[in-house]
Amino acid sequence: MVTRCKVWRPKNLQEAWSIHSQTGIDQSCFVSGGTWLRTQWEAGLLNSPSDIISLESLEELKKIIVQRTENNQEFVKIGSSTTIADCIKNPILRKNTEALVMSCEKIAAPSIRNQATIGGNILTAVGDTLPALLIYDAELTWYDGKLFESELLEKWLITRQFEPHKNETRLLVHINIPLEENSKKSFYFHKKIGRRKTFTPAIVSVAGKGKINNLNNFQSVTLAVGGGSSLPIKLFEAERVLNGFPFSLSLLKKVHTAIFDEYVVVSDAFMTDQYKKTVAANLITAELCNIVEQGGDQNAVG
Ligand SMILES: Cc1cc2nc3c(=O)[nH]c(=O)nc-3n(C[C@H](O)[C@H](O)[C@H](O)COP(=O)(O)OP(=O)(O)OC[C@H]3O[C@@H](n4cnc5c(N)ncnc54)[C@H](O)[C@@H]3O)c2cc1C
Repeated sequence: MVTRCKVWRPKNLQEAWSIHSQTGIDQSCFVSGGTWLRTQWEAGLLNSPSDIISLESLEELKKIIVQRTENNQEFVKIGSSTTIADCIKNPILRKNTEALVMSCEKIAAPSIRNQATIGGNILTAVGDTLPALLIYDAELTWYDGKLFESELLEKWLITRQFEPHKNETRLLVHINIPLEENSKKSFYFHKKIGRRKTFTPAIVSVAGKGKINNLNNFQSVTLAVGGGSSLPIKLFEAERVLNGFPFSLSLLKKVHTAIFDEYVVVSDAFMTDQYKKTVAANLITAELCNIVEQGGDQNAVG
């Protein structure tokens, strides 16, 4: 059956919100690239809304800029409608958030990446950018028609976990990432395992960043995992086990156990939870091993 729906093309945020509230928050739907929504509608997993609000013409949501907070902390502000392809090309992101760029490079095929947006990827709650955004302590800026509200991505994901069926009704405006100084001993990585090598969502994807000091101790390490239908999480216990300690095989074993215990994931038709936990723990410990073997002064491990 062909269902008819009305497509709106607001020119600014206020207009987008006003259409959203006039058409009924549960009846209308924001669309950025439409690549995820299309698959949901075609598979009958979501009902087609009566009103589609395209965010395509909102140029203010397509910029990537560096700004300072009142406390003089630099952060990069990524517009929610920035395409995955533009994230990959952007020099600010390539210099400061390399693991995020690596996660974008592994999403779908180039034709999808030209259309798909970072905001849409976040809103699916299972997108491949999420583990990378988590390790950078990304913050989301929402608009609810009256106020701009900031929320840590990590907190938003926890809320999604407890209210999986509640639709997000606010409009995602920006993603803010605090900037850190990259030293020679900084490292970062992003790894994705899918059922095929490319063009497929992750079964498990992991991201990490940190430093190794002159005594070979791990410092400021942040780790995250996601993939499949499970919500991405930060691996706080594994970070605690690592930070402040020098590399050793016994440390790696402890990290492996911590990841296995901390990553709560469900079995699906193809893979057991035990398999996914093992893959996540193996991927992260193998990356840490690579980094130390290469002297800690290398950066990317793709
Ligand atoms: C062939 C194919 C391969 C794919 N491979 C991958 C992959 O490897 N990894 C991966 O992570 N994903 C993959 N995807 C899924 C999808 O393409 C990405 O997640 C993409 O980034 C979604 O962005 P979008 O702009 O198209 O989102 P949309 O489809 O426009 O929207 C997604 C959700 O976000 C909401 N939304 C969008 N923008 C806003 C906003 N500003 N404020 C509030 N709500 C908003 C929408 O209402 C919807 O609920 C694939 C899709 C296809 C078709």
